Amino acid sequence: MTVGIVGGGQLGRMLALAGYPLGLDFLFLDRSDDTPAARVAPSLVGEFTDRKLLRELARRSEVLTFDWENISVESLRALGREARIAPPLAALAMSQDRLEEKRLFAKLGIPTTRHAAVDSPASLARALRSVGLPGVLKTRRLGYDGKGQAVVRSADDAVRAFESMQGAPLIYEEFVPFDFEVSILGARSRRGEVAVYPLNRNLHRDGILRLTRAPWDAPSLQRRAAAHLRRVLAHYDYEGVLNIEFFVRGNRLVANETAPRVHNSGHWTIEGAATSQFENHLRAILGLPLGATTARGHAAMVNLIGALPLREAVLALPEAHWHDYGKAPRPGRKVGHVTLLAPTAGQRDKAAQLLLRAVDPASARTP
Ligand code: AMP
Repeated sequence: MTVGIVGGGQLGRMLALAGYPLGLDFLFLDRSDDTPAARVAPSLVGEFTDRKLLRELARRSEVLTFDWENISVESLRALGREARIAPPLAALAMSQDRLEEKRLFAKLGIPTTRHAAVDSPASLARALRSVGLPGVLKTRRLGYDGKGQAVVRSADDAVRAFESMQGAPLIYEEFVPFDFEVSILGARSRRGEVAVYPLNRNLHRDGILRLTRAPWDAPSLQRRAAAHLRRVLAHYDYEGVLNIEFFVRGNRLVANETAPRVHNSGHWTIEGAATSQFENHLRAILGLPLGATTARGHAAMVNLIGALPLREAVLALPEAHWHDYGKAPRPGRKVGHVTLLAPTAGQRDKAAQLLLRAVDPASARTP
């Protein structure tokens, strides 16, 4: 049985690696044949909007899924009944537009940032008045890893940021002086079964995730984050894994964004949970029973950004798991990650700090 995956990045590659023991085969579609996924599975090469290639992918696959969200919903929708696609395209479309995402949060009673749509100097002035300063001006679409956004501390900043974003539809939202960030992942299967993972505490720098620690032991946050996640999953009759990121301020959770796919903050589940997010995504979209999401000990995941450190040095650490995505080095690019497991949260945090200091000293200095 073949699973077709649009996008052949590291997420796709890790989906394939998780699916082989289940007896699955994989076929990818990506713009290049030199992708992390193409090293482990066959790949069709062409544009994500290429209807002929999408049709071929659908014809050769039991179900289609995707490993990043900036793909064309229209092109997938045009496949019509030729393809079964999971997660649902409505969830994909929502996650591509920050304004739609915020509307969904509001509709489902999930607390989120104050915000306003901006598409002209007049609407920018209105947004500054209604939301206030400081704030963040973001492109509504095609933003990821902190791209397409600017922190705004004055009206002049706002005008400069507005002009640099070149007429794209924007959203202005309040700046949240958060204490820290968390995310929660869950899977919902075709049969309506839901499995939610323990909470992740995340550290970003320059908009890029650097460190995830899980489980993050905060029962009240976990309970509320899981309830929010379940509401989104139910709303879409969702199939697959979904992630929601939140800011935490005091005891409050403020939803920032969703990802209708496996997520970087869930990589620790490969070694740190009874069933990985990748396996549960596949189980969910194929209608198989979901696996337990229980943590095995305490995990820390450190992203390797730009270039890989010395493999020997990392492997010399106890319970360090090395993941090389097979990508060429480039500043700001996620080229791999390391997951550490420890018997207690204290030991995990200490080990994570040492590793971060070695591979990403600037992030190690961030609280
Ligand atoms: P995003 O692309 O929305 O996930 O933003 C990337 C990162 O920028 C987030 O993880 C935060 O660290 C930061 N950020 C985004 N929006 C806000 C906000 N409204 N207030 C404070 N920090 C933000």
